[in-house]
Amino acid sequence: MGSAAVSTSTEVGSPLTVATVATVDASRRRSGGPGPALPEHRRVVVVGAGFGGLGMAIRLLQRGVRDFMVLEKAHDVGGTWRDNTYPGCQCDVASNMYSFSFAPNPGWSRSFALQGEIWEYLRGCADRFGVRPFIRFGTELLSARWDDQGQKWHLRTSRGELTADVLVSGHGGLSAPSVPDLPGLEKFEGTVFHSAAWNHEHDLSGERVAVVGTGASAIQIIPSIQPSVRQLVVFQRTPPWVVPRLDFAFSERKKLVFRTVPFAQKVDRLRLYLFRELVVLAMRGNTKIRGAIQKAASLHLEHQVTDTALRAKLTPRYEIGCKRILLSNDYYPALTQRNVKLVTHGITEVRENGVVSSDGTFHELDTLVLATGFKVTDHPITRIIVGRDGRSLAEHWAGGAEAYLGTTVVDFPNFFLLTGPYTGLGHNSIVFMLESQFEYILGALDALGERRAATLEVRPHVAHAFGEEMQAALQGTVWNSGCASWYLDANGRNTSVWPTFTWRFRSRTRQFDAGAYAFEPRRVAAVQAQAAE
Ligand code: NAP
Repeated sequence: MGSAAVSTSTEVGSPLTVATVATVDASRRRSGGPGPALPEHRRVVVVGAGFGGLGMAIRLLQRGVRDFMVLEKAHDVGGTWRDNTYPGCQCDVASNMYSFSFAPNPGWSRSFALQGEIWEYLRGCADRFGVRPFIRFGTELLSARWDDQGQKWHLRTSRGELTADVLVSGHGGLSAPSVPDLPGLEKFEGTVFHSAAWNHEHDLSGERVAVVGTGASAIQIIPSIQPSVRQLVVFQRTPPWVVPRLDFAFSERKKLVFRTVPFAQKVDRLRLYLFRELVVLAMRGNTKIRGAIQKAASLHLEHQVTDTALRAKLTPRYEIGCKRILLSNDYYPALTQRNVKLVTHGITEVRENGVVSSDGTFHELDTLVLATGFKVTDHPITRIIVGRDGRSLAEHWAGGAEAYLGTTVVDFPNFFLLTGPYTGLGHNSIVFMLESQFEYILGALDALGERRAATLEVRPHVAHAFGEEMQAALQGTVWNSGCASWYLDANGRNTSVWPTFTWRFRSRTRQFDAGAYAFEPRRVAAVQAQAAE
């Protein structure tokens, strides 16, 4: 596939503004048909079948809730691990932590699993727990509107409409690619694609390739493609802090131990968890630990890059941890190769056959890879979910996102977010946060049932107090230490990061705190409308 007007599969609702971005729809690797037509109504509808939506579906089934449906725009489960297929894609959280606690995988091939293995794991979970019949593949949510009279969600999808009592959004924080507004990008006659929609039909061998960005995705792509391309130009806006990756294959013996003594894998998971939690101390202000991590990163750079000019360009000028700390053993060595050029000047113009950087240099190119990250605080799904007052989540959050425990939102009854505001992590596994949210949401469903209530909605003062608590907790942490990162929204406010130990999130979500919510009984009008249907 060359450069063509294609909308990315990972975008919600609207096509990319840059028409020349060629993408490969990972969902075409079909393994699940769309299934029968949509039902009229479900008690619970979950959006997305990535780690969040899939896990939610499994936990619903395990709790005996069968009146639910998962809407998935692609044709398989897996979310980000289905879509991100770029060369070298590998998790930077250890495998034994980056998996459901209720579905350990003794077969992980290595300490940090590769993308394909994680995707296979998620597909295996979908089969093993029997959730595929509950998923409608190829079904994209186009809009969700709360009907206050009917006390239900009206959902419009690419395959028809349905209603739901409860809506759970498992859209994923890192699912909507961010395409930079490079002047003239539409003129480029070579191939251009985003890292999250890798064009596998295009062979980079012998080409002049540019990678824009030096984040978590780019530092895996660069060493993977460097040996085969003719020339690689890396456009770096901000150098990342990079520490060594303690990555190794699991021996057959180790796998056997994990398989036959599941407790051993649990112990390993606990060890990894506790180690990761210690990092919070550094992020929250322990300058000794933070200094030690920064020193390790500096030594790593010094050891791997002997050219002092290059090293200077690669030395970050912000505190380690402010942006996500990256793990790699082969990123720096790749940059030292003769066919690689690190450019620290921004792209000022894209021409038919290359780009011009702000120092006036023209770089002739065949392919442009945009490893420019995701729309995190402005995820497109926030524009299509509309609450009681007719305003979208995006409109509600214009001054800063707010969601109680990162999960429930004022004016959005019976609505739950997975990995919502203040649940992002710079130090531990997001799966731990997701599992906490699953139990919280199950508790909310129980609370609705116990009270015979139709709706629940977080009380405004509770949600606001939580937002203030988060902002206060973020003060003085490294995440708020002044660098620009995807944790910050358009107002420069950090509404992404859970600012403390993850066990604190677990302890606050373990029990559904019904006192924080207003419940409403089924209204007569809603009952009559239901009877008429
Ligand atoms: P990212 O961390 O947001 O990095 C995007 C890169 O593109 C940054 O270097 C950024 O520079 C640069 N950039 C963005 N817009 C630009 C523009 N207009 N001009 C020039 N440069 C631009 O995105 P990512 O690498 O895709 O990673 C996102 C997150 O996904 C990670 O933090 C991580 O949580 C997750 N992830 C995880 C793994 C893994 O587990 N191994 C792999 C990939 C991604 P600035 O730094 O200056 O903004």
